[in-house]
Amino acid sequence: MDPIDRKTFLASASAATLSAAAPRAANADTRDAVFLSTWKWGVEANAKAAATFDGGGSLIDAIEKGINVVENDPNVTTVGYGGLPNAEGEVELDAGIMDGTTHRAGSVCNLHKIKNPISVARLVMERTRHTTMAGEGALQFAIAMGFTPMQLLTSRALEAWLKWKNTPDHETFWIGPEHHDTIGMVAATGGRVAAGCSTSGLAWKIPGRVADSPLVGCGYFADDAAGAASATGDGDVMTNYVTSKHIVQKMSEGMHPQEACRDLMRYMAKSARDLRTNMYCVIAIDTRGQVGALSMNAAQPLHYALWRNGQGALHTAEHYL
Ligand code: ASP
Repeated sequence: MDPIDRKTFLASASAATLSAAAPRAANADTRDAVFLSTWKWGVEANAKAAATFDGGGSLIDAIEKGINVVENDPNVTTVGYGGLPNAEGEVELDAGIMDGTTHRAGSVCNLHKIKNPISVARLVMERTRHTTMAGEGALQFAIAMGFTPMQLLTSRALEAWLKWKNTPDHETFWIGPEHHDTIGMVAATGGRVAAGCSTSGLAWKIPGRVADSPLVGCGYFADDAAGAASATGDGDVMTNYVTSKHIVQKMSEGMHPQEACRDLMRYMAKSARDLRTNMYCVIAIDTRGQVGALSMNAAQPLHYALWRNGQGALHTAEHYL
């Protein structure tokens, strides 16, 4: 693919948006668009998503722009620029996005040097016949699409990595709840839904590790037949439960989003490890804009941001155990 300059890219990307993303429903306006996101940074992400939608964007535009806010923030050490690196000191990003109307998804895994993996994932969805791109190929695709590679390791993240590296007998592959998180966002308006998520994954992970976030049906899923869901927490475990697809499936069988989240936790509780201490969290929305949010236990509570009727607020989710 020939590289294109950023201006051409932006023009063609917005043309692709018009042609590939599901157009807004005629009766859709911000007042009936609901945005639900994980963690405290979801408040700002939702506000940006709502402003994007209000400005005439599609749900996919809204999700992308909302998630970009968190990816661009160096103070969020679990997403995008400023994310903590893998065991070799390289920031390795994962993201995925899905349009519930077209049933198309796009994702990138192990993406280096590009601070907005959700935007690259969107272009995988809209500009290729593929769904998932990984590693060097994903980076080359991003460059061809006009993204500029940059150093994603901030001095704060470098300092944290050096401290870990230089600690004798440092724990590997899992160091605690502060060192992984995701921005997951689900949205509904006018009977349509969409979902997206973006993360730097587990701090100090083995290079090449891919968990739930960029895998369709795991970190995110959206289907206008029922609703959308996203997951955050220990993705090495949650992947094995295909969490987001499970929840959407249950909503399609008539469950309220909250009950669908509980059903997922019931299913996980039969076999997942460390139920009282490990972090397993989910959010869900149905096509009517009803929402659900749940964490497995009280030790790792999920905070989520909800935007409805033009207003945003941060809440603490119910816990299952
Ligand atoms: N699920 C993400 C991962 O395991 C991290 C998180 O959401 O906390 O990579």
